[in-house]
Order: sequence, then structure tokens, then C-alpha cells
Amino acid sequence: MSDVVRRIRDNLDRVRGRMADACDRAGRKPDEVQLIAVTKYVDAQVARLIVEAGCDTLAESRPQSLWEKADLLRETKISWHVIGHLQRNKVRRTLPLVTLIHSVDSRRLIDAIAAEAASCKHDVDVLLEVNISGDTSKHGLPPDDVSELLAHAAAQAKLNVRGLMAMAGRGTDADAARRQFASLRQLRDRLASTTTGSKSLPELSMGMSHDFEAAIAEGATLIRVGSALFEGISA
Ligand SMILES: *Cc1c(COP(=O)(O)O)cnc(C)c1O
Repeated sequence: MSDVVRRIRDNLDRVRGRMADACDRAGRKPDEVQLIAVTKYVDAQVARLIVEAGCDTLAESRPQSLWEKADLLRETKISWHVIGHLQRNKVRRTLPLVTLIHSVDSRRLIDAIAAEAASCKHDVDVLLEVNISGDTSKHGLPPDDVSELLAHAAAQAKLNVRGLMAMAGRGTDADAARRQFASLRQLRDRLASTTTGSKSLPELSMGMSHDFEAAIAEGATLIRVGSALFEGISA
């Protein structure tokens, strides 16, 4: 077994161990939290190794990188997610490749996705990205604007909002990150209880390599992990 393969397996074991411990402490079942492997730091060859090690869902923040890797790994049975800013002119090429877009934060993007979904006649699952840190350099909607965007999204035929996504602010310590994740969960709970119809918003995408335990404690269903899976590997 090559050093890189061994390293990836060790990293994955360690991350899964941390997830299991965090679920245990939170009284949650391990299968309530899905690991999304973020491959933006590595090339397609290394991304393939994390698939072979047992990850079935990968994510990229840049659409072009996603296209490239999805093409090179097209024979594998994996799902791709977009987790970064998606420009409207990249929607057409991206939609057929992905099963979830985490980073929807504007009416114009919703309209572009809905139009494309209608023309290719397939449903698209998305999350609304919320800026929970107040950090203006971050993408995402202010929490107060989410309800209105949710109502707009609900009116689109082939677009399903499955939940919310957020990142803790840069340099936030563990306690503050946990409070920010709690605020996302509370926002989701409020929206789910007030939205008419069947929108229950089951998914909460929150938590990265250094803070996913706090996110799991606050109800994350999807965690997005990059550096902890690929540390020690030069791309
Ligand atoms: C890069 C990235 C991650 C993964 O971050 P790590 O700290 O490397 O685990 C998660 N979410 C988003 C939106 C990212 O851009």
C-alpha cells in the first residue's frame, strides 16, 4: 500500500472516529450525519483515493474544478455537491453533475437554477446559505432575509429547498462557533414551523475540519471536511 493511500485511510478513520464520538456525546445516531469530502485542495488522482477509501459524496467550491474532477472520475458511483459561489452562467453545465447545491443565496440564482431545472425536466435540491457570523467577507444571506427567499424558492416548480448551510466566522473559537451553529438550527426550526406546506427543511450543512464536533452537537446533518482528510498529502 502506498504512503498516500495509507495516509488517506488513516485520516478518514480519524475523522470518522471524531464523528462517532461527537454523535455519542450528542446522543445522536452516527447515520444522522453525512460526511462530505471536500476535494478542493487535491487533484483528481487523490480525490479518487478518498472514494476508494469509502467516501461516496464529494464537494468542490469552484464549479470549474468540479466539472474537471467529475469528468475524470465519471466511472465512479459518487455524488457531487457544490459548496461555493455558483455564478449564474455556470448553472447549465453544473446542474447535470450534482445532487445538491449548498450555496444558494440570491433570488437571481434561484431563478437561473429553476429555469434550467424546468428545461431539463429534473428536480434540483438546494440549501440556502446563511451568513451566521456577520462577517461581511462571507457569502450567504443575512438571517432576516432567509424567510423571504424561502418563499420565493417554494414557488419554483422543480427546485426543492432541503435546508440551510452556513460557516462559522474566521478565527471563531469553539464556543462561539457552537453558538453560531445553534443560531442556524434555531432559524431552521422557526422557518420550518412557520412555513406553510410540507417544507420541513431536514438538512443542516455546517461544520468543517476544525469545528464539526460543535456542528454535530447543534444538529448538523451534513459536514463538509477537507483539510482533515487530506492533511499530510501534497497535491
Ligand atoms: C473549503 C471548504 C470546506 C472545508 O474546509 P476544511 O476546513 O478544509 O475542512 C467546507 N466548506 C466550504 C464552503 C469550503 O469552502
